[in-house]
Amino acid sequence: MYDLVVVGAGPYGLSVAAHAARAGLDVKVFGRPMASWLRHMPPGMFLKSEPWASNLSDPDGAHTLAAYSAAQGTPARHGVPVPVRFFAAYGLWFARQAAPPADEREVVSVRPGPGGFLVTTADGEPVLTRTVALAVGVMPFVEVPEVLRGLPPELASHSSHHAGLGHFEGRDVTVVGAGQAALETAALLAEQGTRVRVVARSPALDWNTPPPPLARPLAQRVRGPHTGLGCGWRNWLYAETPGAFRRLPAATRARVFASALGPAGAWWLRERFEGAVEVRLGEQIVAAAPAGGRLRLRLADADGGTARLETDHVVAATGFTPALDRLALLAPELRDGLATVADGGGPEASGCFESSYPGLFLAGLLSAPSFGPSMRFVHGATYTAERLVRGVRRRLRPAGGSPGLVAPRAAEKLPARGRAAGVMP
Ligand SMILES: Cc1cc2nc3c(=O)[nH]c(=O)nc-3n(C[C@H](O)[C@H](O)[C@H](O)COP(=O)(O)OP(=O)(O)OC[C@H]3O[C@@H](n4cnc5c(N)ncnc54)[C@H](O)[C@@H]3O)c2cc1C
Repeated sequence: MYDLVVVGAGPYGLSVAAHAARAGLDVKVFGRPMASWLRHMPPGMFLKSEPWASNLSDPDGAHTLAAYSAAQGTPARHGVPVPVRFFAAYGLWFARQAAPPADEREVVSVRPGPGGFLVTTADGEPVLTRTVALAVGVMPFVEVPEVLRGLPPELASHSSHHAGLGHFEGRDVTVVGAGQAALETAALLAEQGTRVRVVARSPALDWNTPPPPLARPLAQRVRGPHTGLGCGWRNWLYAETPGAFRRLPAATRARVFASALGPAGAWWLRERFEGAVEVRLGEQIVAAAPAGGRLRLRLADADGGTARLETDHVVAATGFTPALDRLALLAPELRDGLATVADGGGPEASGCFESSYPGLFLAGLLSAPSFGPSMRFVHGATYTAERLVRGVRRRLRPAGGSPGLVAPRAAEKLPARGRAAGVMP
C-alpha cells in the first residue's frame, strides 16, 4: 500500500510528488508528464506568465525554469515570453530530475478502500493507497457553451482539443471567447491562412500592458509590486497570500473566483492579432446547426439584434470550470459528499489542501475555489506542494488508522456543504 498516490503529472502533480518523495513518503504518480502542454496546446503558443512566475516546485527550489533555461543556453528573461513547448520540455526535465518516475497510465477510478483508497488504472490494475492527491489539471473541466454541445467534433471543439491547428489551413473558423486562449488561437489561425473571426459577449477586448522592469525606483515598487499574477496590490493578495484568501467568506471567494483576472490578451499578442482577425464583440451564438458539412450560426447581441453566418468550424475557447460533477474518476460516494465553496460546484479544501473527505487532497484548479486565482496558474504550485505534503504526513500520523475512518483533523474546520461556480478565462 502506498502512502500517497498523485493523480496527474503536470506542474502541480510533479511538484507534490517531488516534495512527497523528499519527505520519505512511499509515493506513486500517475499520468503522462506535462500532457496538457504537449497534447492540448498548439506549438506556436507562448506562456502569458513571466518566467520567474512559472516554476515547478522542489524542496530545494533548485529545479526552476531559470535553471533549466540556463542549462539550455537560452536564459529566461523578464518580459520575454516563453514558448509553451519550451515550458513543456522544462516540465519533463523537472520530472526526470526532481520527481519519482511517473506511471503514465490513466486513473479511471478513486474510491474508498481498505485502509484508505482503491485507485484503479485504465487497464484495470487496483492500487491501494492511504491518501490521494488529485492533480488532474484543467482537462476534465472544459467548458463548452450549451449551444455547441452535442455537435460533431469536426464542426465544433474546445480550444484545448487541439495539439496543432494545421488541419484548419484554408478553412473558415469562428473562435468564441475573449481570453488569451481565444485571441492566441485566432492569431495563430490567421497567420497560417485560415479565415478566422472572434465572437465574444464582451463589448471590448482587454489587453495586458507590458510588465515594468523588475528593477524600479522604490516608489513605483510600492505603488504596484510585481507578483506572480501581474503587478499591483490586488494581484499580490491573490498571488502571494493564498492562505489569507482561503479565510475570506465563502461567498466572497466564490465571487472573486468567478470574476478576478478576467479575460485579457497578452501584451505581446496584440500586434499580431489586430488587423489580422475579424472581431464581433457584444454578440453570442444562440443557435448552431449543421448544414451541408458546415455550421450555420445565429448570433444575438444585447439589444436583441440577430445575425447569421456560416463557418466550417467553431472553436470554443471558453475556459474550464472545476465543477465536481465533471470529476468522473471520483466514485459517487466520495464526490457527492464533498463540501463545496458556497453554491455551485467547486470543492472546499483545508489549509493543507485536504478535501472534506479525510485523506483526499486537491491541487491546481480544483483548489482554486478555496485558495483563489493563483491556483489557476503554475505559480500556485510552490505554495501548494509543501503544504499539501505536510497535510498528507499529518493525515498518515495516526498509526494503524484508516484515513477514511480517523477523525478529520485538517478537514474538520471546513464550512458546511454548499456550491459555487467559476469559469477560468
Ligand atoms: C492555452 C493555455 C495557456 C496557459 N498559459 C498559462 C501560463 O502562461 N501560465 C500559467 O501559469 N498557466 C497557464 N495556463 C494554465 C495551466 O494549464 C495551469 O497553470 C497548469 O497546467 C496547471 O498545472 P496542473 O498540474 O494542475 O495541470 P495540467 O498541466 O493540466 O496537468 C494535469 C496532468 O494530469 C494528468 N491527468 C489528468 N487526469 C488524469 C487521470 N485520470 N489519470 C492520470 N493522469 C491524469 C494529465 O494527463 C496531465 O498531465 C494555461 C492554460 C491554457 C489552457
